[in-house]
Amino acid sequence: MTTNPKYIFVTGGVSSSLGKGIIAASLAKLLQAQGYRITIQKLDPYINIDPGTLNPYEHGECYVTDDGAETDLDLGHYERFLNVPTSQANNVTTGRIYQSVIDKERRGEFLGKTVQVIPHITDEIKRRIQILGNSGDYDIVITEIGGTVGDIESLPYIEAVRQLEWDLGEHNTCVIHLTLVPYLSAAGELKTKPTQHSVKTLMESGVQADILVCRTEHKLNEGLKTKLARFCNVRKEAVIESIDASTIYDVPNLMLEEGLDKVVLNQLQLKSDVPDLTTWNTFVKRHKNPKSEVTIGLIGKYVELQDSYKSILEAFIHAGAENEVKVIVEPIHSEYLSESNIEFKLGHLDGVLVAPGFGERGIEGKIDAVRYVRENNIPFLGICLGMQMAVIEYARNVLNLKDANSVEMDENTSNPVINLMESQKDVVNKGGTMRLGTWDCKIEKDSTAYKVYKSELITERHRHRFEFNSDYKTQFENAGLVPTGFNPDTGLVEIVEIPENNWFVGVQYHPEYKSTVKNPHPLFVAFVAAALKYKNKK
Ligand code: GLN
Repeated sequence: MTTNPKYIFVTGGVSSSLGKGIIAASLAKLLQAQGYRITIQKLDPYINIDPGTLNPYEHGECYVTDDGAETDLDLGHYERFLNVPTSQANNVTTGRIYQSVIDKERRGEFLGKTVQVIPHITDEIKRRIQILGNSGDYDIVITEIGGTVGDIESLPYIEAVRQLEWDLGEHNTCVIHLTLVPYLSAAGELKTKPTQHSVKTLMESGVQADILVCRTEHKLNEGLKTKLARFCNVRKEAVIESIDASTIYDVPNLMLEEGLDKVVLNQLQLKSDVPDLTTWNTFVKRHKNPKSEVTIGLIGKYVELQDSYKSILEAFIHAGAENEVKVIVEPIHSEYLSESNIEFKLGHLDGVLVAPGFGERGIEGKIDAVRYVRENNIPFLGICLGMQMAVIEYARNVLNLKDANSVEMDENTSNPVINLMESQKDVVNKGGTMRLGTWDCKIEKDSTAYKVYKSELITERHRHRFEFNSDYKTQFENAGLVPTGFNPDTGLVEIVEIPENNWFVGVQYHPEYKSTVKNPHPLFVAFVAAALKYKNKK
């Protein structure tokens, strides 16, 4: 549609957690719905190479892309909103930037020059920002800059934006600054000063915000918008209110009402049209008007943190809308589950999902949970570690292999029903070394999985080191836990089921990463449907 790609930068001020990712994704949705080919990139100012080694307590969920990049959870929002896959190029950290510059230095490519933040680090940032634009696949690239303006570690990124504005020329870039307009209840007023200061901080680095998106709990009146425009040096229509929404899926429409897409397109001198949000709005309507509800237990060890299982929670929202039911997800901490309280904690549920995870903490509670749902025939979905726990539970309680375990938890178990993958045995480094990204899975025709996917060959995303130990395959099959999906090349078990139960499926992969508003994941859709059926029969 356009010849040269246009670049939109989203910076944040005043406070973290204002939702830059959701604003970026919502704007992208509005532009995509006007026919623009668009992608979003996140720049993270921390020194880890990627979030793959970060504890979920630190940084929430690690989102995995098709190409096996371990990335920031905002990429999940981008994919869920746009239904366009992202890749490693969509998430860059300071660690990655420095690593490539230092590697280049070691190769002697700087020809004896002193390597410095400016220009070498900033050049590498600029190069990374333009990789997506130069691919020819996009008309517009939105780059979200992590952190808050004024942070020491954000400075090279802001400097790169300043330089790019000159390199790319007028009307090819647009800077959106997301800020907070707090309400002081003692004064009964919304306050603009923090925004003024944060715009000023940005200007000290030579970057003038073109648009202000103001997070607020109360409506901004005209006077306040005028004041913000005047003090912050932007046009009045470029002061956009972003009021708290009951669901993130309302934000594109809220931004449309505020005219964010129009102001952006005007700045970039691109044609603006009425966005076609038909599919989106059908989803929002279904999401907000459920006909019934189901309660599903999410069993994990990070349940107190909303962000740790972000993609799972969102996949339930998509699947709920598809089934026209409200999915109430009840977080259940596996560490506090035991045989004595299991009935009390799980008895009322319509379905149970045992979450992915690493390490020993909380796994016995997960195993107890699987036993309870299996014996009571409650619909079950086990994801990655959750699937592995289902295998261990079956081995211990049905095959009577009392010490069955995963070698991740007990290296010396005499029944390693979950084993380290052969390809992992020589792996020493932790970062980016798991079995990651998209792999094929072939599904047996006579299975629940086949009914769900209606296809014999699927591809799903992965993130694991351990696998079902195929030496035990026949033993499990004869007893009633059946592997029904396999990697066509290696035979690695991807799916297990208990055909005798209502709905009992464990998957080695992560279906949650691929669920989007446009394509709710079939496994989640079927699981929610099974939970509803189970509830109605109770
Ligand atoms: N810890 C398990 C493994 O590495 C499961 C990983 C996960 O749940 N993502 O195989």
